[in-house]
Amino acid sequence: MRIEEDIKLGFKDVLIRPKRSILKSRAQVDLIRNFSFKYSEYIWSGIPIIASNMDTIGTFEMVKSLSNFNILTAVHKYYSLEHWKDFIRTSSKFILNHVIVSIGTSNEDFLKIKKIFLLSPEIKYICIDVANGYSEHVITFLKLIRNFFIDKIICAGNVVTGEMVEELILSGADIVKVGIGPGSVCTTRVKTGVGYPQLSAIIECADAAHGLGGHIISDGGCTVSGDIAKAFGGGADFVMLGGMLSGHKECSGKIIKDKSNKYMLFYGMSSMSAMKRYEGKIAGYRASEGKTVKIPFRGYIKNTIRDILGGLRSSCTYIGAEKLKELTKRTTFIRVTEQENRIFNVFKTE
Ligand code: 5GP
Repeated sequence: MRIEEDIKLGFKDVLIRPKRSILKSRAQVDLIRNFSFKYSEYIWSGIPIIASNMDTIGTFEMVKSLSNFNILTAVHKYYSLEHWKDFIRTSSKFILNHVIVSIGTSNEDFLKIKKIFLLSPEIKYICIDVANGYSEHVITFLKLIRNFFIDKIICAGNVVTGEMVEELILSGADIVKVGIGPGSVCTTRVKTGVGYPQLSAIIECADAAHGLGGHIISDGGCTVSGDIAKAFGGGADFVMLGGMLSGHKECSGKIIKDKSNKYMLFYGMSSMSAMKRYEGKIAGYRASEGKTVKIPFRGYIKNTIRDILGGLRSSCTYIGAEKLKELTKRTTFIRVTEQENRIFNVFKTE
């Protein structure tokens, strides 16, 4: 046993210090980033926010709405090949540029993804998605995928420490997904005692990835647009969102009507709800590591996205970052013990 004494931080532990700025308006801020990658020769331009590959969030409807904002969606792995055929047939080139195809690490996953990529050369991203990116078989599978899809942008995860980020990048990942336990409907930290505060994970993993020419996605733990700004400030190249995008028309959660109120179910991918839905039951050797929640229905995603992007532009103006790319180098975090003043929150009208 060993104890690491240095402090690890989450989003709630810091604020970003304001800096002198020459920007006159939020409208001057450019949130588009242009990425080139370690292995793939594609260049991708867009706003580096990703809708999570959770089955209620990473839907084809979400891709269609978020591509209007130049934002990516990691499409969940439960769509059949027939669904993919229909989606690709009805989508133009621009929409497909905002798709990430998620897969697990089984032989069937490999066979399916080969068929999906045969449907269109316009899809560029693959995300190998397992809760525990420390498993040896993730590395073996990643190498297989890199050898087969030489030109694609490959993401793999999830991990939270620099040495594993390096191993994934050296094994063929262009982008590493970072986050164990911070998610809004995740109970891994409670069930297992395992995890890592997300901001420190970002800072340490970005350092490791950038040193090798790789990139990272911060996955999980953002609850407000200020957290997204902190994730980018800490060095994340992309930020993945689940809970912040939940409860919208583009989601596939079940709608529940209760008197005059409308709610939507949202659940973790390791929750009882997800396991029952896709496996019929919870295997005897497993425990659920996710929650199911009933949240107020919020209508179309576009209003939420405008709010998030407005918040992010404002973060950039406070620290004088004309482009999102400059946010990291202009960020100084201050450690704090306070965030929002919540005194009137119970009286909120909007
Ligand atoms: P959020 O943005 O909601 O805070 O976090 C979303 C992320 O939580 C997802 O992208 C995924 O990595 C993670 N996640 C989703 N479902 C579960 C779950 O059931 N258990 C755990 N441990 N993590 C989950």
